[in-house]
Amino acid sequence: MGQPFNRVLIENSVNVALGSGVMVIWEINKKFNLPGPYYFRLYRGRAFNDDNYEPVTDWQEEACALYDNERSLGGGLVFDVWYKIRLITGDQRSYWSEPVHCIHYWERRDWIIAKEIIRKELKLYRQYTGAYGVLLKQRLWGETCSCVDASVEESANPDCPLCSGTGIVGGYYTPMRYWCSPEPEKRYSKVDANMGLIQQVGKTFRGLSFPLLATEDVVVNQRSDERWRVGGAIQTIADIRGIPIVCSFPVQKISLDDPVYKIDVSGVE
Ligand SMILES: [Zn+2]
Repeated sequence: MGQPFNRVLIENSVNVALGSGVMVIWEINKKFNLPGPYYFRLYRGRAFNDDNYEPVTDWQEEACALYDNERSLGGGLVFDVWYKIRLITGDQRSYWSEPVHCIHYWERRDWIIAKEIIRKELKLYRQYTGAYGVLLKQRLWGETCSCVDASVEESANPDCPLCSGTGIVGGYYTPMRYWCSPEPEKRYSKVDANMGLIQQVGKTFRGLSFPLLATEDVVVNQRSDERWRVGGAIQTIADIRGIPIVCSFPVQKISLDDPVYKIDVSGVE
């Protein structure tokens, strides 16, 4: 069976937006398939081999990211801590990730610029929607769905009610708060093999770059419940010293009969 954790990462830009939070994300080995549900908890220590890592979150079911909101930057721009994730599987087995180092130093000027960019973005998003959005990150690990065709290792049913055609039970991780809004429609040129240069109109959203989006993730307007699937060409449109802050991404509206509409996002705060 082996170890479940492929890697654990710190999302570097999150503390800028949240002021005092650190976001830790992880990936689980696809071959790790003990029964669910999986419960995760985030722990913090002061050194790699600290023998007193303390929990900083509650147990969260089927999460793909956790926040340390207790971690106060205290007005300073430096912090230096270690994190570990603990997993309890459905059959009560316990696993720890390797510790990951979170060390950060912001130049005061960069910090102020980043805060200002994010403040303006959030204002823009609130003006448009009046409500924050929700992100459904497509599952990359978890229990294989019964609809999966073993010969090609893919779901044989794009409308599968158990996995929404993702091939992994549940289809998406626990819904997360996410900030984004539609951009004015863009016309762009595309070269087509038969027709030459053609004009297309595409719908794009802009949003904060954390967590980093991936193709096939779904963003939801929590008020209208409209749902959009994220397309391929995700572009960073603002960054500070290489840390992405704001991105633009193509979206396609999802039709109302798609099983992704069955996922309840009303409880996301
Ligand atoms: Zn399925």
